[in-house]
Formats: sequence, C-alpha cells, structure tokens
Amino acid sequence: MSLRIVVTVKYVPDATGDRHFADDLTVDRDDVDGLLSELDEYAVEQALQISENSDDDVEITVLTVGPEDAKDALRKALSMGADKAVHVEDDDLHGTDAIGTSLVLAKAIEKAGYDLVISGLASTDGTMGVVPALLAERLGVPQVTLLSEVSVEGGTVKGRRDGDAASEQLEASLPAVVSVTDQSGEARYPSFKGIMAAKKKPVESWDLSDLDLEAGEVGLEGAWTKVDSATQRPARTAGTIVKDEGEGGKQLAEFLAGQKFI
Ligand SMILES: Cc1cc2nc3c(=O)[nH]c(=O)nc-3n(C[C@H](O)[C@H](O)[C@H](O)COP(=O)(O)OP(=O)(O)OC[C@H]3O[C@@H](n4cnc5c(N)ncnc54)[C@H](O)[C@@H]3O)c2cc1C
Repeated sequence: MSLRIVVTVKYVPDATGDRHFADDLTVDRDDVDGLLSELDEYAVEQALQISENSDDDVEITVLTVGPEDAKDALRKALSMGADKAVHVEDDDLHGTDAIGTSLVLAKAIEKAGYDLVISGLASTDGTMGVVPALLAERLGVPQVTLLSEVSVEGGTVKGRRDGDAASEQLEASLPAVVSVTDQSGEARYPSFKGIMAAKKKPVESWDLSDLDLEAGEVGLEGAWTKVDSATQRPARTAGTIVKDEGEGGKQLAEFLAGQKFI
C-alpha cells in the first residue's frame, strides 16, 4: 500500500523584519525577507513521523501558494525530509484572500493526488486558522483539526485534540485533512545531508492555467474580503519608572488604576 501526504506550507514575511502594506493595502511581500511559517514546520514534522512509523510507501509532497521567494519555504521543508514540492505562482494571485487561497490549494492538492493533507493550525502572518477547514469543504473530505498527536493506521487518520476541559480522541477515514498544533512535537532541524539532498529533489511550478483557474476567481478581483484602511501603530513611548521612596506601592496602584488595569 502507499500513502500520499500533501503538506501545505506557507512562506510568510519574517516577523522580526520591517513589514508594511503596499499602496493597494495588500501586504508588501516583495520588500521583506520571508521564511517557512514556523507553525507549518510542525505539519512537516508530523508527516515525516507518519512516514518513519509506517510500513507502507509514504510520499510527502510539500505545497505552497506564494511568490517566487516562496521556494525558500519549500527548500526548507525538503531539507527536513519531504520528498518533492509543488509551487503555485502566478502574478494574478496578487491580493488573493483566504477563500481564494483555499481554492488554489484545493485544485493543486487534487492535481498532485493525496490521501492525507496536513496543515499548520494557522499561518504566522494571516493567523486566520481557516484554510484547513476550507480545504476539507472544497475537497469534500473529513477534517480533523487542531491535533496535538496524529497517526495513520490502515485507511484511518487518528489524533488527539486537547481542549481546556478535556482531550478528545478523534479519527476519520482517508482521504482527509488534518491540522496540527505546536504541541504535536518539536520540528527537526535540517541536517547537512538533508540540505544537500534537498537541492536534487523535484520542485514543480504550476500557474493558474495548470489548475484550470481564471484570474478573476482569485486575486483582488475574486477576493471576498478587502482592507479598507490601515494606520501605522504609534511609536512606543518611554516607560514610567516608579521609584520606591516609601510611597512606591501607592504610586504603582495609582498608575495601574489610571490605565484601567485595576
Ligand atoms: C501572492 C499572494 C498575495 C496575497 N495577497 C493577499 C491580500 O492582499 N489579502 C489577503 O487577505 N490575503 C492575501 N493573500 C493570502 C493570504 O496571505 C493567506 O494565504 C490567506 O488569506 C490564508 O490566510 P491565513 O494565512 O491566515 O491562513 P490560515 O488559515 O491561518 O492558515 C492555516 C494553514 O493553511 C495553510 N496555508 C495558508 N496559506 C497558505 C499558502 N499561501 N500556501 C500554502 N499553505 C497555506 C498552512 O498550512 C497554514 O498553516 C495572498 C497570498 C499570496 C500567496
């Protein structure tokens, strides 16, 4: 038996860099350094562990929808141990929202072929946490989201979802979509051997026409959501130092009350 896993990985602007909006109020993705969304590293890790614990032939494809530089995210996932990669890139994707992104990802997943899709719980830039559910709906398969433990046995994916009050054991028959949390297990660092091997692994590039999609279905034109305005956050001001010369506690309480913390 064989198991085809597709891991969705997003290339996100580096949160430590200077991020800003372009003139059309979309995120300026050309002018900032990016990286593989940290939360998607957990998804890659879980795919690798399923493969290592399986007697079946497991093939792991990592998939991203993003600009040219998004190949860096794919290379990182390949150097961790994924087998091959698919990069969906098209100028007409500019301004695509979550609904559009899920459409493109679903078409690409169908074209790649899959038994199991593994996503992160949310991207570290948009952080909407909706794409896995949208994918399951578009693909017409079960979704088991927010898993902190995941395994595949036969034709079933099983996992544990930890809530505030209880932990649930969940399962779904394949094909299915799952998302994993940052509690699912530390993601491995790519080894030197892995980095060298990744250079030779196949990376396919698809555009909208490869997925039978029209420009108007995605991009700003096809978006269900729109950013109307954005305001620069005010610069941080210097903090207030309360010197304790006998009245420190009182001053501190007054300060907190003034800020409506107490
Ligand atoms: C070139 C480009 C321009 C864009 N412009 C805009 C814009 O102007 N306005 C706007 O609202 N959105 C835009 N987007 C889409 C946006 O960045 C998000 O991808 C999308 O809205 C999903 O929201 P999220 O990141 O919060 O996903 P979440 O639901 O938080 O993501 C959950 C999981 O879904 C998967 N995932 C999400 N996005 C991708 C992806 N792109 N590739 C692979 N896996 C993914 C990951 O596994 C992730 O962990 C653009 C995307 C691209 C590629």
